[in-house]
Parts: sequence; structure tokens; C-alpha cells
Amino acid sequence: MNRRALILDELGLSPVWVRKEILAELQAKPVEPVHVAVASNSPAPRPQGFSPVAVAAHQALAPLVSSPAKFTPPPAQILPANDPVEDERSLRIARMNWEELNAAVSTCTACPLCEARQKTGGQTVFGSGPMQANIMVIGEAPDADEETQQTPFLGDAGKLLNNMLATIGEDEQVYKANILKCRPPNKRNPQAAEVLQCAPFLKRQIELIQPKTLLLTGRFAMKTLLESDEPVSVLREKLQQYKQIPLVVSYNPSYLLRNLPDKSRAWHDILRLKAALKNSRH
Ligand code: SF4
Repeated sequence: MNRRALILDELGLSPVWVRKEILAELQAKPVEPVHVAVASNSPAPRPQGFSPVAVAAHQALAPLVSSPAKFTPPPAQILPANDPVEDERSLRIARMNWEELNAAVSTCTACPLCEARQKTGGQTVFGSGPMQANIMVIGEAPDADEETQQTPFLGDAGKLLNNMLATIGEDEQVYKANILKCRPPNKRNPQAAEVLQCAPFLKRQIELIQPKTLLLTGRFAMKTLLESDEPVSVLREKLQQYKQIPLVVSYNPSYLLRNLPDKSRAWHDILRLKAALKNSRH
């Protein structure tokens, strides 16, 4: 038996290919003692009863044969950047019941919008509609009227939304909520840090309501739940999903009031919503 076969035999390995130069190096190299670890974190006991050939073989083959002793577990899975707040606060929110959630929102100070709210004597807008809703409509943030009445989707935009839902006979079992529960000053857009802090409330609302379908209006709502930077015009073209709930993307009703040509597109979105709802009932 040649030296290579002896080595493999000693290790109890079936023959493997070993580069000639490594074998030559192996033959030329003085034998050094090696340790074989039995567990990655425990001190390695020195092997007993190994011949010098086996010890040398271990050194030579180590780069070629993966050893359990050298296995390093892969790093823990990193959560997607936009499922962020898997921290203590969001985990606490994720365990709340409806009343606890409502109370937590009404006293929330997690983002700077609470300062404006407190300064102006404003209030949070939790959402409105029946808990047994078939459809959950999600917008961006309350405006001044909505803040006063603590109801999302009021005014002309709200009327437009209601009319569209009424045409498919689905204006009753609808729950409406926003990504942000506090009003941003001067009608400005929601900011990323605000959305990050407020999103766990909305996600818990969805879990508790378990609507049959979701209607997302506007890009901030979309970015939060779909974790996508694609424009509304792209994402609205097909049915999406959020945690296995069919989800339709459409334009914000306030935007539609200013951009009449997109109204017909929004009408197609409502028809898609109707179809998704029908499928969910089968
Ligand atoms: Fe809290 Fe949301 Fe209001 Fe910010 S917007 S203070 S996160 S409830």
C-alpha cells in the first residue's frame, strides 16, 4: 500500500484526490502534534493512539476535508431592513389586545409627532370601522379634520373612497386606518423615522382585525407593508399579498381629486379588490 493509501486507511476515509504537491509537502514536513476538538467551544483534547502518518494526514487534508470540529455556525438571519423594529417595543405591541393597542397609541411619544400633538392639543387617530371588516383600507396620515374627529378618510377624499367602495357593495364592512396615528404639521409627508415607529401599531391592527383584503392607498402605506420602493403605478398592476392577505395597491383618494385621469385606473383597482374579496370567500 502506498503512503497515500496508508494515510486514508488510517483515517478511515475512502480514497480522495490529493494534489501531488500537497502530498510532497506532507512527505517533507516534520510531524507536529495536532488537537482534534470534539465541540467548537470546548478545549481540544490531544488525540491518543494516532500514528504519525495519521497526524500528518490530518494536517495535509484539513483544507480539503471539512471537519465537524472546525464547523462555524452561520450567523443568525438578519431581518430585512424594513422589518425593523423587531425590538422590545414592537414585540410588546405585537402582543397587545385591541384595548391595549388603542391606549398605547393615545399616549404614544415614540416619535417627534407627539410634540406637535401635545403642543396643539391634538389627538391620535387610531382608526374607524367594524372589527369584523372584510376590507381594511390603509392611508398615510390624518389631516386636521380627521384629527379633530379622530376618523381617517374624511372630506372629499373620504367621500370619493366611500363612493368607490359603494359601487362594489363593500362600503359597510370596511375598517380604515393610517400608517401614522398623529398628524404631521403643515400637511407634510410622513418621515421615515415616524413611519418606523408607528408601523408596529398598524401591523398589530391588521393582525387583530384579520381582514379578507387590504387596500393600500399611496406610496407610504405601500412602502411600509410591501417593503418596496416601486411606484404605485407599478405595484397596483397586480394583486399583492401581506402575510397571506390579498392586497390591492391604489392611489391615495386625495391624489385622485387632483389627478382626475388616474381615477379610471383607481376604478380598475377597486374591481381587483372586489375579485380578491370574492376569491377569499370561496
Ligand atoms: Fe406614536 Fe405614531 Fe404618534 Fe409617532 S405618529 S407619536 S409613533 S402614535
